[in-house]
Amino acid sequence: MVLLNLGLPHFDKGRLLLVTSWKMASRGVSSLIHDKAYVDGQWVSAISGKTFEVLNPSTGSVVGVVPDMNADDADVAVKKAYQAFQSWKETTAKERSDILRRFYDLSCQHKDELAKLITEENGKPLSAAKGEVAYGNGFIEWNAEEAKRVYGDIIPSSVSSNRILLLKQPVGVCGMITPWNFPHAMITRKACAALAAGCTVVLKPAEDTPLSALALCELAEKAGCPKGVINVVTSCRENAAQIGKVLCEHPLVKKISFTGSTYVGKILLQQSASTVKKVSLELGGNAPFIVFDSADVDAAVTGTMLCKFRCSGQTCVCANRIMVQEGVYDEYVKRLADRMKQELVVGDGFTDGINQGPLINERAVQKVERLVKDATSKGAQIVLGGKRHDKGGNFYESTLLKNISTEMTCTQEEIFGPVASVMKFKTEEEAIEIANATSVGLAAYFYSQDLTQVFRVMEKLEVGMCGVNEGILSTVQAPWGGVKESGMGREGSKYGIDDYTEIKYVCIGGLQ
Ligand code: ADP
Repeated sequence: MVLLNLGLPHFDKGRLLLVTSWKMASRGVSSLIHDKAYVDGQWVSAISGKTFEVLNPSTGSVVGVVPDMNADDADVAVKKAYQAFQSWKETTAKERSDILRRFYDLSCQHKDELAKLITEENGKPLSAAKGEVAYGNGFIEWNAEEAKRVYGDIIPSSVSSNRILLLKQPVGVCGMITPWNFPHAMITRKACAALAAGCTVVLKPAEDTPLSALALCELAEKAGCPKGVINVVTSCRENAAQIGKVLCEHPLVKKISFTGSTYVGKILLQQSASTVKKVSLELGGNAPFIVFDSADVDAAVTGTMLCKFRCSGQTCVCANRIMVQEGVYDEYVKRLADRMKQELVVGDGFTDGINQGPLINERAVQKVERLVKDATSKGAQIVLGGKRHDKGGNFYESTLLKNISTEMTCTQEEIFGPVASVMKFKTEEEAIEIANATSVGLAAYFYSQDLTQVFRVMEKLEVGMCGVNEGILSTVQAPWGGVKESGMGREGSKYGIDDYTEIKYVCIGGLQ
């Protein structure tokens, strides 16, 4: 097949080179900003002509304006992706790998612009945004490599005249829906595995952060990704449901991959039943973070700082229920409070020295307020913070609550904010019982210097991922995903690409 646009930028009149906000241009990211969605290799408006604004969560200013698409646009994108699949699935693994490798190189070349774009639309500190781009680019590189390692099998048959072959083939068009907390990495983690396997993609990014997704389309195109292979359909929150429904129920879509809330994940799973699609879901967590008496308390506090306050507490694997054994409880709370006071600096993501950005929107701030109010009304004590930050807008104070109990809603829902809530426990059995007493099971963390305890606890925790004396789990090499209502499937690692392939069993007979 012909690989289009090798190394050549695709300058269409739809591209937005002028930016609505002068601030944006001054921050040097304008070349990757788009005001059109990307379907079939074209920069397109919504069929309805409608648009919506993307806001900077730190300042409330308009970062960009993008098409507000709906079910009709999603249907067009699916059909284009299906057409593209007919030739993309025939490319060799090497051809796909080469395109992904060029995509990786370009994303590395543009890493600073991509990071600035993330800070603009997501609000996270620029240093964290740079970290995300490095992490997200890692999935492009990884899948460029994995593309060449999708091996089938030959299985010894019990019939001497037969041979059993297993082929791994791409599943087809994949519908993807991604969240706003990692606007770059959640896309590369899913889409690059799909492209590597030979699938094509229709992706709906979160309404808060569509610009990073569109920037990636520009780079993928420059890398030589043929038209229709990756398509991005943007919409406001109100239209998300109808686009999701089209993706889940369209007979030409063969797989859904979603990262987001358990609530939406369940809707998508139900809708996907209508066409019996393969589904990968990475849904909410309620991560226990357990500090045993046997722990190195300093290391546990360091782990908490990383695990709890990354992205201002807005990740699905952030410590949600910090559980500390009674022997080290007071010491842990004191040290954590000291470190929080010394190290956490709240402010605009572009300001030097800050490490805590705003929450994504007013809805998120209201949720945190509700959880803190509920906890304090049931006996939690505020050690630090506990209210909206005096910077106003979507800023919330870095907060430490102690005397948490399991009746409080903050132990039952994801906090998704900069609130460390600490409860005391007595025994290992009690800690494990509390940790597992939830319908979800994404990540868990625990700190212990006792080897036998380490093995006992890691085997008993009902989660897909477990940090032992470690507060950060994210890495391309390891499989990412949860158990129970945290979802199904794994992303990244040597297993991630399997979610985008089907195994075909072939029996060849009469070989005497
Ligand atoms: P959050 O509340 O953090 O935004 P969601 O699970 O609601 O988490 O959103 C994650 C992604 O799911 C976003 O891209 C959002 O637009 C999309 N989404 C929200 N509701 C639906 C829905 N009913 N069907 C399909 N996608 C949806």
